[in-house]
Amino acid sequence: MTAPARQEGTVFEAGGGVYLVRLGSGALVEAALRGRLKQERRTGDRVVAGDGVTVSPQGEGWVVEAVAPRDSELVRRGLGGRKAKVVAANVERVLVVVAARDPDVSFQLVDRLLVVVESSHLHAVLVVNKVDLPGAGAVVAELSSLYGAVGYPVLAVSAVTGEGMDDLAAALRHGTSALVGPSGAGKSSILNALHPELDLRTGGLSRKTGRGRHTTVSSRLIPLECGGTVADTPGFGDVGLWGVEAAEVSRCFPEIVPLEDECRFRGCAHVKEPDCAVREAVATGAVAESRYRSYLALREEALQASEAAGY
Ligand code: GDP
Ligand code: ZN
Repeated sequence: MTAPARQEGTVFEAGGGVYLVRLGSGALVEAALRGRLKQERRTGDRVVAGDGVTVSPQGEGWVVEAVAPRDSELVRRGLGGRKAKVVAANVERVLVVVAARDPDVSFQLVDRLLVVVESSHLHAVLVVNKVDLPGAGAVVAELSSLYGAVGYPVLAVSAVTGEGMDDLAAALRHGTSALVGPSGAGKSSILNALHPELDLRTGGLSRKTGRGRHTTVSSRLIPLECGGTVADTPGFGDVGLWGVEAAEVSRCFPEIVPLEDECRFRGCAHVKEPDCAVREAVATGAVAESRYRSYLALREEALQASEAAGY
């Protein structure tokens, strides 16, 4: 036997110091981190699902020798603190999943999630699930017009009847996508419908722990039959605005960005400054009230977070 060479792979699941790595051949192997990497990673980010790694065989198993620089990071604020946590690496698209009803759509939560996606420079797609339920049509129409105007693709689907699922599969076909959204919106049901043998538990129990949804379970990647990969990121629905400075919040609203040059003052906060093009656009209806309210709330939240952090 020749000495086994190093191989490139992708971390599919990380937890308890064990990394499940998919090699170029498609084989899944379990690897541990090289000691030196453990030291480096203790202060910085952990190795997470989606990371590109170099592994080499060692003894019975494999060891992670190196972690490739990330193209992108899906980040959320650590529970109860301000510490950022990288949930998944190298995700390129985030599906913000809401239900047409049961539970009702929170526009504020949608906007918050979209800001998190924009601040990470990822593509967002709004998915409205449960369109089989009575009254869903009006909600889909409202969301399509509101978010379609901003430039986000809006997909109406039902994980139960299969309506719209072909379009959803087409949107997922390339690269890695993550599903985020409030508990109960149907994220697990959508993944089950796309990929029946996954058999994710639906209706509020998380996999592995069987406890509440929000117990921390690490993310994992799921290769889909329809092509593409999905990052299953449990508990990501409850996100803070990690790392978004107040002055940056407006950049996460694509409909506000082109207006900013027209405000009288450079660095206009669009709160109460005179000759503010954003407030004028809200007055004429060119920018939706609900989006502007979310902008103000998220900006305020970012200001308070930076004050609390002492800068
Ligand atoms: P998650 O918390 O976002 O993963 O949501 P789940 O997939 O657990 O779904 C929450 C509840 O909504 C479950 O009772 C599902 O059976 C139900 N559900 C999910 N998708 C649909 C749908 O398209 N239509 C209807 N009527 N119910 C759905
Ligand atoms: Zn302004």
